[in-house]
Amino acid sequence: PSVFNHLARAPEDPILGVTVAFNKDPSPSKLNLGVGAYRTEEGKPLVLNVVRQAEKLLVNDSSRNKEYIPIVGLADFNKLSAKLILGANSPAIQENRVTTVQCLSGTGSLRVGAEFLARHYHQRTVYITQPTWGNHPKVFALAGLSVKTYRYYDPATRGLNFQGLLEDLGSAPSGAIVLLHACAHNPTGVDPTPAQWEQIRQLIRSKGLLPFFDSAYQGFASGSLDRDAEPVRMFVADGGECLVAQSYAKNMGLYGERVGALSIVCKTADVASRVESQLKLVIRPMYSSPPIHGASIVATILKDRSMYHQWTIELKEMAERIISMRQQLFNALKSRGTPGDWSHIIKQIGMFTFTGLNSKQVAFMTKEFHIYMTSDGRISMAGLSSRTVPHLADAIHAAVT
Ligand code: PMP
Repeated sequence: PSVFNHLARAPEDPILGVTVAFNKDPSPSKLNLGVGAYRTEEGKPLVLNVVRQAEKLLVNDSSRNKEYIPIVGLADFNKLSAKLILGANSPAIQENRVTTVQCLSGTGSLRVGAEFLARHYHQRTVYITQPTWGNHPKVFALAGLSVKTYRYYDPATRGLNFQGLLEDLGSAPSGAIVLLHACAHNPTGVDPTPAQWEQIRQLIRSKGLLPFFDSAYQGFASGSLDRDAEPVRMFVADGGECLVAQSYAKNMGLYGERVGALSIVCKTADVASRVESQLKLVIRPMYSSPPIHGASIVATILKDRSMYHQWTIELKEMAERIISMRQQLFNALKSRGTPGDWSHIIKQIGMFTFTGLNSKQVAFMTKEFHIYMTSDGRISMAGLSSRTVPHLADAIHAAVT
């Protein structure tokens, strides 16, 4: 018998498993609203024109080779990534207090940050939002941190439970790590207002908590890179320390290239350089050094004025299509007279709508309408199109009546 005979079959990943089930469904009207990847009006994956253009430049440049890049990744990519999230005039960057390492997309950046904290930070508890992206608790727990939750979403209002959030962070032990979604909270689409962010910042700083931002959707929420980075910049502007995990999966459509960055903003340049030396010791035994292609695409775009500008236009188009899907779905439910208040569909932000549908209603919609989504009722607005909105509205209507 196999030495692995004792293994039980593991369950599918709750998010990626939705696509597995979708792929098995032969129905021509099937609709996958599970996975968080952008689709065009035609339901097709999108490679940005500016990405194609950057790739052509890279391929035609015969001076480029495939040598290993440094443990921390491409220097240009790291500098430009820090600038993108912290702002071109960030004093922290000018003072050399930021160390940035290229990692394997957002997930890899979170994991490297978590491994670093587990090794070198005195407080080993991390607070994550309730609910959050399903991978968060696993990334942090497997890195050796103890994971606790803070209240975030209020099912009654389908908005922020701000009071609960303040109470829970207020009673967190001093120094605890707090994971914050920089914008477009996943799965709820509920973000604090700028005034609420300011209160959160004051509380976190007054208690000496350590903010760790997950920025997976910069530019995707509002269509503006700067606006979506505001919460992070507020925390950096006060001179305090923080971590930021960035992903280029959504905003440049580079999902499978696995390109992202971890920045650690420190008090001094000397600390930042020692932090970087320790990050190398975290990365080297995990995967040695990151891949070259995706980071080269990003660096090519970010350092060229005209390509950067073209990117912001294409990014805005994606964000606006998603926002228009929200309006169309809301209108479709209204015109059907579907019972309930659906205004949260247009109020929520980013790729997802947290519909408020329960797991029974979700199962019904999958069985009767071949619509696939996670069982918590989260739908990816990016997977919708004008053509498929009526089908989804019919399904929601039937599920709640
Ligand atoms: N954080 C959040 C909140 C996300 O939604 C995602 C993607 N679904 C990620 C991180 C990481 O994605 P990736 O590793 O593909 O960049």
